Amino acid sequence: MSTNTCVCCPTFRRGFAPRRPDRPQVCEVCRLRFDTLVYDLWLLHDRLVNPDPAEVDQRRYARRDQQGKRTGEHRWADPLAPIGGAGTIPGKTNQPHVSGTPGRSTPANLDQVDLTSPARVPNPTAAGRRDPWDQIGHLSVATRLYEIVRDWRDTLWPDQHLPVPTMDELVAWMRAGATDGYAGDRTDHACTRHPGIGDTAAELHDLRRILRAQLGDTEPQPRRWIGVTCPTCNEVSQIQQTAGDEYAECAECGRMYTGDQMTEFVTKQAAATRAVATA
Ligand SMILES: [Zn+2]
Ligand SMILES: [Zn+2]
Repeated sequence: MSTNTCVCCPTFRRGFAPRRPDRPQVCEVCRLRFDTLVYDLWLLHDRLVNPDPAEVDQRRYARRDQQGKRTGEHRWADPLAPIGGAGTIPGKTNQPHVSGTPGRSTPANLDQVDLTSPARVPNPTAAGRRDPWDQIGHLSVATRLYEIVRDWRDTLWPDQHLPVPTMDELVAWMRAGATDGYAGDRTDHACTRHPGIGDTAAELHDLRRILRAQLGDTEPQPRRWIGVTCPTCNEVSQIQQTAGDEYAECAECGRMYTGDQMTEFVTKQAAATRAVATA
């Protein structure tokens, strides 16, 4: 180990000084963030593969007869009415199938297709590896996770079998034993012992950004408590919270605070400010 600061902090805690971890390589905060990252990749991938169903129009209308009187019957509103209805749906043709006959064109979003392809088991080329996301289109998420899983297995668990290369199995393998406050045995060991863990964190972090962009999600912004003083180091406006994180953290002294603690400080400090203002 050539460094005694956390190798994942530059990725997961951008804007904060890297922590000095209690255990080799990775601080406790970043271990949890690594696990959250893998879980997020699974969720995002799932959304790409199974897009939200089109919204169904829940309105109903009373059916009327030709004289305009209610028939007592109700019908669902046509969900496609605002765009002029569904139009004709091509039925199955009676003509014999001719091979080479063009069918419907495929949806044109090739990025999405790449990202959700099944794992390609052989290694990509060296060129692809140098810049895997931009040069050869997006490698599929499953392909990249499979490579990481195989790398972890070869390095740390050479006696174990590889999981089946599906997203569900790969993510379950990486997150084995993960609970609310624990990254799981697999990720925990990899954080302590895998020499490439910092690079892997950075790459998967980038992949999450690409998946979010693909889904049209905006990258969640950190919350910052402007004007609030850190009770530990007395610096003002340094407490921040990464979106989705349970704890807020002071960028100056590194102390972590729960939501309840933050509510307490903010309430106390606001009361103190009011007291001064009305004195
Ligand atoms: Zn860290
Ligand atoms: Zn502080």
